[in-house]
Amino acid sequence: MTRALGPLIINALHYDDTVKKSRVIVRRASYDYGTLKPLIFGIADSLCGPMIRKGSRVVIKPNLLAPSRPDRAMVTHPLVVKAVAEYVLEKGGRPQISDSPAMGGFGKVLNESGLGEALKGMEVEFKEFRESSGFDIGEPFKKIDIAKDALEADLLINVPKLKTHAQMRMTLGVKNLFGCIVGLRKPEWHLRTGVSRELFATLLVKIHHALRPSATILDGILAMEGQGPGRSGTPRELGIIVASDDTYALDVAVCRMLGLDPYSVFTNKAAREMGHVADEIEVIGEVPIIDNFRFPDIAPLVFGPEKLHGFMRRHLVQRPLSEESACRLCGECWKYCPTKAISREGHRIRIDYNKCIRCYCCIEVCPHAALRTQEPLLGKAFRRLRK
Ligand code: SF4
Ligand code: SF4
Repeated sequence: MTRALGPLIINALHYDDTVKKSRVIVRRASYDYGTLKPLIFGIADSLCGPMIRKGSRVVIKPNLLAPSRPDRAMVTHPLVVKAVAEYVLEKGGRPQISDSPAMGGFGKVLNESGLGEALKGMEVEFKEFRESSGFDIGEPFKKIDIAKDALEADLLINVPKLKTHAQMRMTLGVKNLFGCIVGLRKPEWHLRTGVSRELFATLLVKIHHALRPSATILDGILAMEGQGPGRSGTPRELGIIVASDDTYALDVAVCRMLGLDPYSVFTNKAAREMGHVADEIEVIGEVPIIDNFRFPDIAPLVFGPEKLHGFMRRHLVQRPLSEESACRLCGECWKYCPTKAISREGHRIRIDYNKCIRCYCCIEVCPHAALRTQEPLLGKAFRRLRK
Protein backbone atom coordinates (compact mmCIF):
# COMPACT_ATOMS: atom_id res chain seq x y z
CA MET A 1 0.00 0.00 0.00
CA THR A 2 1.26 3.50 -0.71
CA ARG A 3 0.18 6.82 0.77
CA ALA A 4 1.07 10.24 -0.53
CA LEU A 5 2.97 12.50 1.87
CA GLY A 6 4.38 15.98 1.56
CA PRO A 7 7.99 16.93 0.74
CA LEU A 8 10.68 15.18 2.72
CA ILE A 9 14.20 16.15 3.72
CA ILE A 10 16.62 13.29 4.21
CA ASN A 11 20.10 13.39 5.78
CA ALA A 12 19.64 17.01 6.80
CA LEU A 13 22.62 17.83 8.98
CA HIS A 14 22.66 21.62 8.85
CA TYR A 15 20.71 24.31 7.14
CA ASP A 16 23.32 26.61 5.63
CA ASP A 17 24.78 27.31 2.20
CA THR A 18 27.96 25.33 2.72
CA VAL A 19 26.31 21.91 2.86
CA LYS A 20 26.06 19.75 -0.22
CA LYS A 21 22.39 19.55 -1.24
CA SER A 22 20.69 17.32 -3.77
CA ARG A 23 17.18 17.01 -5.06
CA VAL A 24 15.24 13.89 -5.87
CA ILE A 25 11.95 14.00 -7.78
CA VAL A 26 9.21 11.43 -7.12
CA ARG A 27 6.09 11.10 -9.24
CA ARG A 28 3.18 8.70 -9.07
CA ALA A 29 3.00 6.99 -12.47
CA SER A 30 1.64 4.11 -14.51
CA TYR A 31 2.53 2.54 -17.86
CA ASP A 32 -0.29 4.41 -19.58
CA TYR A 33 1.83 6.12 -22.25
CA GLY A 34 -0.54 9.07 -22.55
CA THR A 35 0.35 10.16 -19.01
CA LEU A 36 3.82 8.62 -18.74
CA LYS A 37 5.29 10.52 -21.69
CA PRO A 38 4.56 14.08 -20.42
CA LEU A 39 5.68 13.06 -16.96
CA ILE A 40 9.06 11.80 -18.23
CA PHE A 41 9.39 14.84 -20.51
CA GLY A 42 8.86 17.16 -17.53
CA ILE A 43 11.43 15.31 -15.43
CA ALA A 44 14.02 15.12 -18.23
CA ASP A 45 13.51 18.81 -18.98
CA SER A 46 14.37 19.77 -15.43
CA LEU A 47 17.36 17.41 -15.16
CA CYS A 48 19.19 17.38 -18.45
CA GLY A 49 17.16 19.24 -21.09
CA PRO A 50 19.55 22.20 -21.54
CA MET A 51 22.51 19.82 -21.92
CA ILE A 52 21.13 18.08 -25.00
CA ARG A 53 22.23 19.93 -28.14
CA LYS A 54 21.39 19.26 -31.74
CA GLY A 55 23.30 16.13 -32.75
CA SER A 56 24.39 15.19 -29.19
CA ARG A 57 24.93 11.46 -28.85
CA VAL A 58 22.90 10.46 -25.84
CA VAL A 59 23.43 6.97 -24.49
CA ILE A 60 20.40 5.66 -22.62
CA LYS A 61 21.29 2.81 -20.25
CA PRO A 62 18.27 0.80 -19.10
CA ASN A 63 18.43 -2.37 -17.01
CA LEU A 64 18.35 -5.14 -19.63
CA LEU A 65 19.56 -7.94 -17.39
CA ALA A 66 18.17 -10.84 -19.41
CA PRO A 67 15.42 -11.77 -21.89
CA SER A 68 12.24 -11.24 -19.95
CA ARG A 69 8.71 -9.86 -20.37
CA PRO A 70 8.07 -6.49 -18.71
CA ASP A 71 5.51 -8.01 -16.32
CA ARG A 72 8.33 -10.00 -14.65
CA ALA A 73 9.88 -6.65 -13.54
CA MET A 74 13.41 -7.79 -14.37
CA VAL A 75 14.07 -5.13 -16.99
CA THR A 76 13.28 -1.42 -17.29
CA HIS A 77 9.83 -1.15 -18.86
CA PRO A 78 10.03 -0.40 -22.62
CA LEU A 79 7.60 2.54 -22.35
CA VAL A 80 9.84 4.31 -19.83
CA VAL A 81 12.80 3.88 -22.19
CA LYS A 82 10.64 4.98 -25.12
CA ALA A 83 9.62 8.21 -23.39
CA VAL A 84 13.26 9.05 -22.60
CA ALA A 85 14.30 8.32 -26.21
CA GLU A 86 11.43 10.44 -27.57
CA TYR A 87 12.49 13.29 -25.35
CA VAL A 88 16.08 13.10 -26.61
CA LEU A 89 14.82 13.12 -30.21
CA GLU A 90 12.62 16.11 -29.53
CA LYS A 91 15.64 18.03 -28.24
CA GLY A 92 17.54 17.21 -31.44
CA GLY A 93 19.81 14.59 -29.85
CA ARG A 94 20.72 11.14 -31.20
CA PRO A 95 19.52 8.48 -28.75
CA GLN A 96 21.45 5.23 -28.47
CA ILE A 97 20.08 2.45 -26.28
CA SER A 98 22.81 0.23 -24.91
CA ASP A 99 23.58 -2.40 -22.31
CA SER A 100 25.55 -5.59 -21.93
CA PRO A 101 23.04 -8.17 -20.68
CA ALA A 102 24.25 -10.83 -18.28
CA MET A 103 22.65 -13.54 -20.36
CA GLY A 104 20.62 -14.30 -23.46
CA GLY A 105 22.15 -11.78 -25.89
CA PHE A 106 21.17 -8.18 -26.59
CA GLY A 107 18.86 -8.98 -29.56
CA LYS A 108 16.93 -11.55 -27.57
CA VAL A 109 16.48 -9.12 -24.68
CA LEU A 110 15.16 -6.44 -27.06
CA ASN A 111 12.63 -8.91 -28.49
CA GLU A 112 11.43 -10.50 -25.31
CA SER A 113 11.24 -7.28 -23.29
CA GLY A 114 9.19 -5.64 -26.05
CA LEU A 115 11.71 -2.80 -26.28
CA GLY A 116 12.43 -3.38 -29.96
CA GLU A 117 8.72 -3.32 -30.77
CA ALA A 118 7.92 -0.30 -28.57
CA LEU A 119 10.55 1.85 -30.29
CA LYS A 120 9.94 0.54 -33.81
CA GLY A 121 10.11 3.29 -36.44
CA MET A 122 11.89 5.75 -34.14
CA GLU A 123 15.31 7.11 -35.05
CA VAL A 124 17.01 5.29 -32.24
CA GLU A 125 20.15 3.20 -32.39
CA PHE A 126 20.19 -0.07 -30.46
CA LYS A 127 23.77 -1.01 -29.78
CA GLU A 128 25.11 -3.61 -27.39
CA PHE A 129 28.16 -2.53 -25.39
CA ARG A 130 30.99 -4.56 -26.92
CA GLU A 131 34.11 -2.42 -27.01
CA SER A 132 35.82 -1.19 -23.87
CA SER A 133 38.33 1.53 -23.05
CA GLY A 134 40.68 1.60 -20.11
CA PHE A 135 39.72 4.13 -17.43
CA ASP A 136 41.53 4.77 -14.17
CA ILE A 137 38.93 4.61 -11.41
CA GLY A 138 41.55 4.91 -8.66
CA GLU A 139 42.67 2.63 -5.85
CA PRO A 140 42.50 -0.29 -5.38
CA PHE A 141 41.33 -1.12 -8.90
CA LYS A 142 43.19 1.51 -10.99
CA LYS A 143 42.67 1.15 -14.76
CA ILE A 144 39.65 -0.96 -15.65
CA ASP A 145 37.77 -1.66 -18.89
CA ILE A 146 34.47 0.21 -19.24
CA ALA A 147 32.16 0.33 -22.28
CA LYS A 148 33.64 2.84 -24.71
CA ASP A 149 30.24 4.09 -25.86
CA ALA A 150 29.24 4.96 -22.32
CA LEU A 151 32.53 6.71 -21.57
CA GLU A 152 32.50 8.70 -24.79
CA ALA A 153 28.81 9.66 -24.94
CA ASP A 154 27.98 13.36 -24.96
CA LEU A 155 25.39 12.52 -22.32
CA LEU A 156 24.52 9.39 -20.39
CA ILE A 157 20.99 8.88 -19.11
CA ASN A 158 20.72 6.08 -16.57
CA VAL A 159 17.30 4.34 -16.59
CA PRO A 160 17.42 1.63 -13.92
CA LYS A 161 14.73 -0.62 -12.48
CA LEU A 162 13.83 -0.68 -8.79
CA LYS A 163 14.72 -4.22 -7.70
CA THR A 164 16.01 -6.17 -4.74
CA HIS A 165 19.40 -7.83 -5.10
CA ALA A 166 20.51 -10.98 -3.28
CA GLN A 167 24.12 -9.79 -3.02
CA MET A 168 23.88 -5.97 -2.67
CA ARG A 169 20.37 -5.91 -1.09
CA MET A 170 19.04 -3.43 -3.69
CA THR A 171 19.90 -2.61 -7.28
CA LEU A 172 18.99 0.98 -8.07
CA GLY A 173 20.84 3.73 -9.94
CA VAL A 174 24.46 3.09 -9.00
CA LYS A 175 24.37 -0.69 -9.52
CA ASN A 176 22.71 -0.31 -12.93
CA LEU A 177 25.90 1.06 -14.43
CA PHE A 178 27.70 -2.24 -13.78
CA GLY A 179 26.07 -3.13 -17.12
CA CYS A 180 28.69 -0.83 -18.68
CA ILE A 181 31.25 -3.52 -17.94
CA VAL A 182 31.26 -5.57 -21.09
CA GLY A 183 30.22 -9.24 -21.24
CA LEU A 184 32.21 -11.75 -19.26
CA ARG A 185 34.33 -9.06 -17.64
CA LYS A 186 31.41 -8.78 -15.18
CA PRO A 187 31.89 -12.25 -13.63
CA GLU A 188 35.66 -11.60 -13.70
CA TRP A 189 35.07 -8.65 -11.39
CA HIS A 190 32.96 -10.80 -9.08
CA LEU A 191 35.91 -13.14 -8.92
CA ARG A 192 38.41 -10.37 -8.28
CA THR A 193 36.38 -8.80 -5.50
CA GLY A 194 35.78 -12.29 -4.06
CA VAL A 195 33.59 -12.64 -1.00
CA SER A 196 33.83 -8.98 -0.04
CA ARG A 197 30.52 -7.25 -0.71
CA GLU A 198 32.10 -4.03 0.51
CA LEU A 199 34.85 -4.24 -2.10
CA PHE A 200 32.35 -5.04 -4.84
CA ALA A 201 30.21 -2.08 -3.75
CA THR A 202 33.30 0.17 -3.84
CA LEU A 203 33.92 -1.00 -7.41
CA LEU A 204 30.31 -0.21 -8.38
CA VAL A 205 30.48 3.29 -6.91
CA LYS A 206 33.78 3.97 -8.69
CA ILE A 207 32.37 2.78 -12.02
CA HIS A 208 29.36 5.03 -11.51
CA HIS A 209 31.63 7.92 -10.63
CA ALA A 210 33.68 7.42 -13.77
CA LEU A 211 30.54 7.60 -15.90
CA ARG A 212 28.57 10.26 -14.00
CA PRO A 213 25.20 10.11 -15.76
CA SER A 214 23.55 13.47 -16.40
CA ALA A 215 20.26 12.08 -15.15
CA THR A 216 18.96 8.93 -13.52
CA ILE A 217 15.30 8.08 -14.11
CA LEU A 218 14.28 5.01 -12.12
CA ASP A 219 11.37 2.80 -13.12
CA GLY A 220 9.62 1.90 -9.89
CA ILE A 221 6.16 1.53 -11.41
CA LEU A 222 6.34 -2.25 -11.37
CA ALA A 223 9.25 -2.99 -9.04
CA MET A 224 10.72 -6.24 -7.76
CA GLU A 225 10.81 -7.45 -4.16
CA GLY A 226 11.98 -10.67 -2.48
CA GLN A 227 14.90 -12.60 -3.92
CA GLY A 228 15.75 -10.31 -6.86
CA PRO A 229 17.14 -9.30 -9.24
CA GLY A 230 16.39 -12.28 -11.50
CA ARG A 231 13.46 -14.63 -11.93
CA SER A 232 13.45 -15.61 -8.26
CA GLY A 233 12.25 -12.09 -7.36
CA THR A 234 8.57 -11.10 -7.17
CA PRO A 235 7.01 -8.18 -9.10
CA ARG A 236 5.45 -5.55 -6.83
CA GLU A 237 3.49 -2.58 -8.04
CA LEU A 238 4.70 0.68 -6.46
CA GLY A 239 3.55 3.16 -9.09
CA ILE A 240 6.49 5.56 -8.88
CA ILE A 241 9.12 7.14 -11.10
CA VAL A 242 12.06 8.56 -9.15
CA ALA A 243 14.63 10.82 -10.78
CA SER A 244 17.63 12.95 -9.99
CA ASP A 245 20.86 14.31 -11.40
CA ASP A 246 22.50 12.83 -8.29
CA THR A 247 22.23 9.03 -8.39
CA TYR A 248 23.64 8.63 -4.87
CA ALA A 249 20.91 10.85 -3.45
CA LEU A 250 18.29 8.97 -5.46
CA ASP A 251 19.42 5.59 -4.13
CA VAL A 252 19.38 6.82 -0.54
CA ALA A 253 15.94 8.42 -0.96
CA VAL A 254 14.43 5.28 -2.51
CA CYS A 255 15.64 3.16 0.41
CA ARG A 256 13.99 5.56 2.85
CA MET A 257 10.73 5.30 0.90
CA LEU A 258 10.93 1.52 1.13
CA GLY A 259 11.43 1.70 4.89
CA LEU A 260 15.01 0.45 4.65
CA ASP A 261 18.10 1.85 6.35
CA PRO A 262 19.84 3.29 3.25
CA TYR A 263 23.26 2.36 4.55
CA SER A 264 22.37 -1.30 4.85
CA VAL A 265 22.67 -1.21 1.05
CA PHE A 266 26.34 -1.79 0.30
CA THR A 267 26.58 0.72 -2.55
CA ASN A 268 25.06 3.51 -0.45
CA LYS A 269 27.45 2.75 2.39
CA ALA A 270 30.44 2.78 0.03
CA ALA A 271 29.23 6.03 -1.57
CA ARG A 272 28.88 7.67 1.85
CA GLU A 273 32.36 6.53 2.88
CA MET A 274 33.74 8.09 -0.30
CA GLY A 275 31.98 11.36 0.49
CA HIS A 276 29.53 11.20 -2.43
CA VAL A 277 26.25 11.36 -0.49
CA ALA A 278 24.83 14.85 -0.08
CA ASP A 279 24.39 16.26 3.42
CA GLU A 280 20.86 17.22 2.58
CA ILE A 281 18.57 15.40 0.16
CA GLU A 282 15.33 17.11 -0.67
CA VAL A 283 12.68 14.78 -2.02
CA ILE A 284 10.03 16.63 -3.96
CA GLY A 285 6.75 15.38 -5.33
CA GLU A 286 4.40 12.78 -3.94
CA VAL A 287 6.52 10.80 -1.54
CA PRO A 288 4.95 7.43 -0.82
CA ILE A 289 5.23 5.29 2.26
CA ILE A 290 5.54 1.73 1.09
CA ASP A 291 4.47 -0.92 3.53
CA ASN A 292 5.95 -4.37 3.94
CA PHE A 293 8.34 -4.31 1.03
CA ARG A 294 10.17 -7.64 1.09
CA PHE A 295 13.97 -7.54 1.00
CA PRO A 296 16.28 -10.48 0.34
CA ASP A 297 17.68 -12.31 3.34
CA ILE A 298 21.26 -11.24 3.60
CA ALA A 299 23.50 -12.81 6.19
CA PRO A 300 26.96 -11.34 6.80
CA LEU A 301 29.61 -13.07 4.75
CA VAL A 302 32.85 -13.44 6.62
CA PHE A 303 34.36 -11.58 9.55
CA GLY A 304 37.05 -12.04 12.20
CA PRO A 305 40.43 -13.74 11.69
CA GLU A 306 41.25 -14.55 8.09
CA LYS A 307 42.06 -18.20 8.72
CA LEU A 308 38.43 -18.76 9.73
CA HIS A 309 36.98 -17.22 6.57
CA GLY A 310 36.96 -20.46 4.55
CA PHE A 311 35.08 -22.26 7.33
CA MET A 312 32.59 -19.41 7.72
CA ARG A 313 31.90 -19.24 4.03
CA ARG A 314 31.21 -22.96 3.86
CA HIS A 315 29.12 -23.31 7.02
CA LEU A 316 27.59 -19.93 7.91
CA VAL A 317 26.90 -18.06 4.70
CA GLN A 318 23.81 -18.50 2.51
CA ARG A 319 24.58 -20.58 -0.50
CA PRO A 320 22.95 -21.08 -3.87
CA LEU A 321 20.79 -24.15 -4.04
CA SER A 322 19.12 -25.61 -7.10
CA GLU A 323 15.51 -26.79 -7.28
CA GLU A 324 15.93 -29.91 -9.35
CA SER A 325 12.32 -29.95 -10.54
CA ALA A 326 12.66 -26.45 -12.05
CA CYS A 327 16.16 -26.84 -13.50
CA ARG A 328 16.21 -27.42 -17.24
CA LEU A 329 19.98 -27.86 -17.45
CA CYS A 330 20.21 -24.87 -19.78
CA GLY A 331 23.80 -24.18 -18.69
CA GLU A 332 23.47 -20.42 -18.11
CA CYS A 333 24.61 -20.73 -14.50
CA TRP A 334 27.75 -22.75 -15.16
CA LYS A 335 28.67 -20.52 -18.12
CA TYR A 336 28.42 -17.40 -15.97
CA CYS A 337 29.77 -18.63 -12.59
CA PRO A 338 33.02 -16.69 -12.05
CA THR A 339 34.71 -19.49 -10.10
CA LYS A 340 33.45 -22.40 -12.24
CA ALA A 341 31.88 -23.86 -9.11
CA ILE A 342 28.89 -25.28 -11.03
CA SER A 343 28.97 -28.36 -13.20
CA ARG A 344 26.48 -30.75 -14.70
CA GLU A 345 26.26 -34.16 -13.11
CA GLY A 346 23.87 -36.40 -15.03
CA HIS A 347 20.38 -34.89 -14.78
CA ARG A 348 21.23 -32.31 -12.17
CA ILE A 349 23.72 -29.56 -11.45
CA ARG A 350 26.38 -29.78 -8.78
CA ILE A 351 27.69 -26.76 -6.87
CA ASP A 352 31.14 -26.95 -5.32
CA TYR A 353 30.69 -24.86 -2.19
CA ASN A 354 34.42 -24.76 -1.57
CA LYS A 355 34.89 -22.85 -4.80
CA CYS A 356 31.69 -20.75 -4.53
CA ILE A 357 32.31 -17.13 -3.47
CA ARG A 358 28.58 -16.42 -2.81
CA CYS A 359 28.22 -13.75 -5.47
CA TYR A 360 24.77 -15.15 -6.42
CA CYS A 361 25.32 -14.40 -10.11
CA CYS A 362 23.95 -17.87 -10.89
CA ILE A 363 20.62 -16.96 -9.24
CA GLU A 364 20.57 -13.72 -11.18
CA VAL A 365 21.06 -15.34 -14.59
CA CYS A 366 18.98 -18.51 -14.14
CA PRO A 367 16.12 -18.12 -16.64
CA HIS A 368 13.90 -20.67 -14.86
CA ALA A 369 14.01 -19.49 -11.23
CA ALA A 370 15.63 -22.82 -10.39
CA LEU A 371 18.16 -21.38 -7.96
CA ARG A 372 17.63 -19.76 -4.61
CA THR A 373 19.67 -19.03 -1.51
CA GLN A 374 19.67 -21.32 1.48
CA GLU A 375 21.25 -20.54 4.80
CA PRO A 376 23.10 -23.48 6.40
CA LEU A 377 21.70 -24.58 9.79
CA LEU A 378 24.87 -23.52 11.56
CA GLY A 379 24.59 -20.10 9.92
CA LYS A 380 21.00 -19.69 11.13
CA ALA A 381 21.92 -20.66 14.68
CA PHE A 382 24.93 -18.35 14.67
CA ARG A 383 22.87 -15.41 13.35
CA ARG A 384 20.30 -15.86 16.13
CA LEU A 385 23.07 -15.98 18.69
CA ARG A 386 24.63 -12.77 17.36
CA LYS A 387 21.27 -10.99 17.49
S1 SF4 B 1 19.96 -23.89 -12.45
FE1 SF4 B 1 18.97 -22.52 -13.89
S2 SF4 B 1 20.64 -21.67 -15.09
FE2 SF4 B 1 21.43 -23.48 -14.08
S3 SF4 B 1 21.16 -25.12 -15.54
FE3 SF4 B 1 19.37 -25.13 -14.21
S4 SF4 B 1 17.86 -23.87 -15.26
FE4 SF4 B 1 19.83 -23.42 -16.22
S1 SF4 C 1 27.96 -20.93 -7.63
FE1 SF4 C 1 26.75 -19.07 -7.92
S2 SF4 C 1 27.11 -17.91 -6.04
FE2 SF4 C 1 28.73 -19.44 -6.19
S3 SF4 C 1 30.41 -18.41 -7.22
FE3 SF4 C 1 29.23 -19.48 -8.79
S4 SF4 C 1 27.77 -17.90 -9.51
FE4 SF4 C 1 28.60 -17.15 -7.57
